[in-house]
Amino acid sequence: MISDCILDKPLDMAPSRRSSDEVLLGVLASRHDADNAVHIFLVNSIASLNAGGGSYPNGSPEPASFVQWYGNDHANGRAWAHELGHLMELDHVEIDYSNEKQASQRVKNLMVKGLSAGSDLTSQQISTAKGSKLVKRFSG
Ligand SMILES: [Zn+2]
Repeated sequence: MISDCILDKPLDMAPSRRSSDEVLLGVLASRHDADNAVHIFLVNSIASLNAGGGSYPNGSPEPASFVQWYGNDHANGRAWAHELGHLMELDHVEIDYSNEKQASQRVKNLMVKGLSAGSDLTSQQISTAKGSKLVKRFSG
């Protein structure tokens, strides 16, 4: 259960260094002691960063993601769920737009890249997530 949301101190990091999501997450993670939690950082929008979010399921000291805040609850909620999907070992779903039937289904998927509105998961994705290290760790 998610019971703690901590409002962190402003990021002490030059804006030019924030364009690498791995460096950004490293700095965010270094600001707290290692623990057994999963950290998803909601950060103010960073102009030099292309990705809406990023995830490091094997990050050190713990699995971590960040999501950029765009001021849109729905888009941010979707981005948050998408990054959580990555932490549960789900890959991106690629869309072949030349295949209309396939594209119309896949466009609704949570794991489509970018600022999509999709939230569906296939039964295969659900079983991958259930079998992930992260879920196993919390299901005792
Ligand atoms: Zn992604």
